[in-house]
Amino acid sequence: VTERDVINLRATLAAIRREVELYDHQLIALAAKLNAHKSVGMGSMAQMVARESGVSTRDAAKQIKLAEHLEEAPILAAQMTKPGMSTEKARIVAGVVEKLPLNLTPADRERVEADLAQAAPSMSVEQLRRKARRAVEIVDREQADRIENRELLKQEAAAIRSTEFWMTRPDDDGMVQGGFVIDALTGDMLRAAIEAQTSPRRRDNKPETLEEAVLLPPSTYKEKAGAAFASLMRHLPTDCFGNHGGVAATLMVTVDEKSLRGECERAGLTEFGTAVSASQLRQVACGAGILPAVLNGDSQVLDLGRESRLHNAAQRKALAKRDLGCAFPDCDRAPGWAETHHIVPWSTGGPTTIDNGVLLCSYHHRTIHATAWEVRLNQRDRMPDFYPPGSSMPIRNSRYRPLVA
Ligand SMILES: [Zn+2]
Ligand SMILES: [Zn+2]
Repeated sequence: VTERDVINLRATLAAIRREVELYDHQLIALAAKLNAHKSVGMGSMAQMVARESGVSTRDAAKQIKLAEHLEEAPILAAQMTKPGMSTEKARIVAGVVEKLPLNLTPADRERVEADLAQAAPSMSVEQLRRKARRAVEIVDREQADRIENRELLKQEAAAIRSTEFWMTRPDDDGMVQGGFVIDALTGDMLRAAIEAQTSPRRRDNKPETLEEAVLLPPSTYKEKAGAAFASLMRHLPTDCFGNHGGVAATLMVTVDEKSLRGECERAGLTEFGTAVSASQLRQVACGAGILPAVLNGDSQVLDLGRESRLHNAAQRKALAKRDLGCAFPDCDRAPGWAETHHIVPWSTGGPTTIDNGVLLCSYHHRTIHATAWEVRLNQRDRMPDFYPPGSSMPIRNSRYRPLVA
């Protein structure tokens, strides 16, 4: 037996099955007309069909409904034996006809049904559903728009009410898990944001000198998407360009002054009780989203440069003009995705100025904080120079910028 034989045999069987199903529907309709269930002592047609076909009463009721519909819809009935046709598709067509607007003339109703029935065998079930939503289009375009709009509004209103979000408390490994249910449009926005960061072009020119395994670029798509999602969370909503008036969703972190200055490695504590390493704190303290409550040796809160910790919108614009995005060599992250890093850390007295700032994407921001890569401001042209670990030869991001002589 060849593959071709198997395929042909299945096609033949499917054709026979369609004939048998149509015949069965005709018999069910006839039995319903004769109230045949009474003669065998059954309470209803649905019960009788359910018992004979071995299906639920609900499915039996659906079969009877379609059978009765086919009696009055010769065009749809004629389509039932066409290759690609199924009772599922027939039910979609019948469902549309049943719900047609009352103001349609009998001739218009027939046209709508014929149009759908003729398209059904060659369309996929999904395509047919979409077409069904705009079924009236063939006789009344505007009405189809209105019906579809009404359906979508209903669906969207329901979506607003059925959103869900959940996340766990951190587990023993310091990880949380979460999930969500959101409407399709918001989902597409999230997909666009994630895919913008996971496109294959990203990070393919990565420097191979990173010291720590944790900093290796993620490999699988799942890991990449996870990293992109994490990066998204770390940028919302305080750190976005054009969103200056946005709500400051800042997380309060209590941290020791000495940890912040890099003089000791005591962990900080978020307002939700999560411990954060001193080195990670020094990195995130660079940007918005985190508000360090700095304690001195006597556990008193210091008002350490709360006002002057973050670059303001005008400074960020100036940095965007100078750096054109992440300034790390070979990176192509746009300014909107970049964080402002203090070249001389804010926590060690570095001022919040343009000269002391540099735009870095979150990946390279981590690289600068966690590896031996260094960034310094070139005093001659006041542009950032990057020094690979152990090297005294600076390099720059030349992706969008001409190399400086
Ligand atoms: Zn930084
Ligand atoms: Zn970068």
